[in-house]
Amino acid sequence: MSDLDDLYQEILLDHYRRPRNFGPLPGADRAVDGHNPLCGDRLHIAVRLEGDRLAEIRFEGSGCAISTASASMMTEAVRGLPVAAALSLADRFRALVMGDSPPAAAEELGELAALGGVRAFPMRVKCATLAWHALRSALTGDGARVSTE
Ligand code: ZN
Repeated sequence: MSDLDDLYQEILLDHYRRPRNFGPLPGADRAVDGHNPLCGDRLHIAVRLEGDRLAEIRFEGSGCAISTASASMMTEAVRGLPVAAALSLADRFRALVMGDSPPAAAEELGELAALGGVRAFPMRVKCATLAWHALRSALTGDGARVSTE
């Protein structure tokens, strides 16, 4: 294992053990439940918007280390962003874990790049993208429930 893999492992475990922005969000404008039946991951993502800006985002639920760490990192990455920027980041993250992005793109994603390793494991890609599917649904308002299946 390379030093970079070790670092990424550390980041993921840290977010899994101490999820950021975890808990209910009073005054949420929209909330979405996400379910990944293949792994059993369940996430509830709640957002509060101020105009075009994603002012607050929190999540609840239970899932595997990958889905929990991904949700935690996602909330940190998108909180405070304009909605359009959050959706753009969701696209770039999806490209990263699907293995569709150029190598340099990972660097722009900062800590999120730690999840890039799942591209080698199709089952885990669904764990990593669950929170982002739910985010997209919450921001575009096209459903109160998402499933990876
Ligand atoms: Zn999972």
